[in-house]
Amino acid sequence: MVDVHNKATRSFNMSRIKATNTKPELTVQDFLRGKGYRIKTNDSSLPGTPDIVVSSQQTVIFVNGCYWHGHNGCRYFTVPSTRKEWWLNKILTTKKNDRRRHRELRKLGWRVIVIWECRLKAQARAQTLSRLTNLLGRYL
Ligand SMILES: [Zn+2]
Repeated sequence: MVDVHNKATRSFNMSRIKATNTKPELTVQDFLRGKGYRIKTNDSSLPGTPDIVVSSQQTVIFVNGCYWHGHNGCRYFTVPSTRKEWWLNKILTTKKNDRRRHRELRKLGWRVIVIWECRLKAQARAQTLSRLTNLLGRYL
């Protein structure tokens, strides 16, 4: 990939695109800490800098924004009508990168869990977090 930005511009862009410790991430972090899991957040030593790492379960968790990561069929994923092609391309690239990073992580022996932001909204949150508990527990 050709990178035309200098480092300062790029980090500015990235900070706009992927804010760390956004509220949905905090919801999951607080939940896991409450359950007694020891977690690491935004671990840049792993591919894709997973939002949450639960080392004891060999599990990484990405909390994906439905928009940026192109959550298929989700009502929070709508492509703007202006520069539609550009946006679609951008989101497609993000999805491709996501898949590549997940593959890399699995090769390293990590289990990858993706939680979509829409699944952390009030009406779905309890169900999502209880599924997460099940997933983490089953791995023991
Ligand atoms: Zn969604």
